[in-house]
Amino acid sequence: HLLTHWVPLREEGVLQGIVAVFHDITDLKKLENIRRDFVANVSHELRTPVTVIKGYGEALLGGTLENDPERARRFVEIIYSHSERLADLIGDLLTLSQLESGTLTLDLTPLQIERAAGHAAGLLEQKAGRKQITINTAALAGAPAILADPGRLEQVLINLLDNAIKYTPASGTISFITAEENGMLRIGVRDTGIGIPPKDLPRIFERFYRVDAARNRDEGGTGLGLSIVKHIVQLHGGTVAVESEPGKGSTFWISLRKA
Ligand code: ADP
Repeated sequence: HLLTHWVPLREEGVLQGIVAVFHDITDLKKLENIRRDFVANVSHELRTPVTVIKGYGEALLGGTLENDPERARRFVEIIYSHSERLADLIGDLLTLSQLESGTLTLDLTPLQIERAAGHAAGLLEQKAGRKQITINTAALAGAPAILADPGRLEQVLINLLDNAIKYTPASGTISFITAEENGMLRIGVRDTGIGIPPKDLPRIFERFYRVDAARNRDEGGTGLGLSIVKHIVQLHGGTVAVESEPGKGSTFWISLRKA
């Protein structure tokens, strides 16, 4: 895309010529498209739960369920779960906007990754337990301390573990692994899950990108988790990476500076 404008050249008020100035606005156009897609995606994602909440709320208010308390209770549960989804989505959007506007600052301290991972695993123990999934943090014992913001690191680990649980069939295993590399500690979250097709791999860290939107929607994600992970890790000066084989499992890597 080219934007052209004409600049008259004058010397002492006399027109000497006209210069055409071309600006390449390809990048600007791209940014504008990304912004527009983002607004469209957000609106769509927000509208779905709101529509459900409104619909079931109306049904309850209609009074026809007064003699059917079981059905009424189910409706309330549906309303509750969609409110939760809405709250998650708004929380993720706020985090993302803070990350992207640069207003989120880090409070870096030396941390033991073993403790941080153990804590995150504890928070998701029930969810994993419901699918008989084991979370193994043993490989982190004795790993060198890293420099990270505890709250933000927890957010990263929870996002990665939550995904690993969501996309791993019952009785699977999730293991933390590590590798050291030029002053950085690489931390991997490896699962025995459904994996990711090679064509989707380059895009999964994008906002709202989901491998199979229809299937994933049942899992209740927002499509924002991995873009939040990437932003937080990059803010720490680290990088993210993923290896995956469909039907076998995935490993999500983050690298963080050693303390
Ligand atoms: P979501 O809220 O959909 O989980 P994310 O940004 O966290 O959004 O992940 C983006 C997509 O990447 C997911 O929808 C899913 O298709 C894929 N994905 C993420 N983690 C895994 C994993 N551990 N195994 C398989 N697919 C995954």
